[in-house]
Amino acid sequence: MTRPVVTRFAPSPTGYLHIGGARTALFNWLYARGRGGRFLLRIEDTDRARSTEAATQAIFDGLGWLGLDWDGEAVSQAANADRHAAVAREMLEAGHAYRCWASQEEIEAFREAARAEGRSTLYLSPWRDADPADAPDGPFAIRLKAPRDGETVIEDRVQGRVTFRNDQLDDMVLLRSDGTPTYMLAVVVDDHDMGVTHVIRGDDHLNNAARQAQIYDAMGWEQPVWAHIPLIHGADGKKLSKRHGATGVGEYAEMGIPAPALRNYLTRLGWSHGDDEFFTDAQARDWFDLDGIGKAPARLDLKKLENLSGQHL
Ligand code: GLU
Repeated sequence: MTRPVVTRFAPSPTGYLHIGGARTALFNWLYARGRGGRFLLRIEDTDRARSTEAATQAIFDGLGWLGLDWDGEAVSQAANADRHAAVAREMLEAGHAYRCWASQEEIEAFREAARAEGRSTLYLSPWRDADPADAPDGPFAIRLKAPRDGETVIEDRVQGRVTFRNDQLDDMVLLRSDGTPTYMLAVVVDDHDMGVTHVIRGDDHLNNAARQAQIYDAMGWEQPVWAHIPLIHGADGKKLSKRHGATGVGEYAEMGIPAPALRNYLTRLGWSHGDDEFFTDAQARDWFDLDGIGKAPARLDLKKLENLSGQHL
């Protein structure tokens, strides 16, 4: 039986809502809404130093203005920290993870020496195979006992089959020695607990998917369907930045662009349905799929947005 579709948007609340983020949210929303599924919002606020209330509010406002409603309450990732730690301990007990007492200084010294000698800087903790009787006192990190042989394969709906050599991935830290979970662990546990079936996000997270897949496998959890979409570029083919014009959803709202026009424009940015440019919302929901997402980065074209704005007035 196929599971009902559950997608999510998982922004880090560190600034205004960028149109790249808005497009990611929109794709997730369209995919869920077009299939009678659920679209969830998770605020990834574990980085306490960089996360702000104002940024969280800007995300709510931007999504609200765009008409991207989410199901249930927005989830705070930081609020789940105890659950993340519990899963790390579960992995430890099951033998899928181990305690590592290596200090940051030790790891840095290893890397520096490796760099100087032209060796691989991939750090493999000596604690992986240490005798438990040798365990010292003091704080330890929990690391995943990652597979050392073979490959980790991501079957991505946009990128195709992407393989990562396991001997090039280290044993990632799951829980830091201060007891806080890492981003990798938090994302996997939350996505699993929220029942997320499809992870649709920017392709800057593709390498993370390999790491996250290793955690899913260690826990015996079913991996979500992965779809990593190319980032948006400016008209010059470079990664979108302020130089190219407005990058915040709020800026477009202030410019008087109608929300349905921006929604239509962003739907078409990186996803195509034949030559169609103008869609109603109902059409976008009916037509949107993962197969129409291109592998090449989409370019921002403000002329097209202006044209659509005229049509959506
Ligand atoms: N919080 C991450 C970001 O804002 C996204 C994580 C994810 O979608 O898995 O880039």
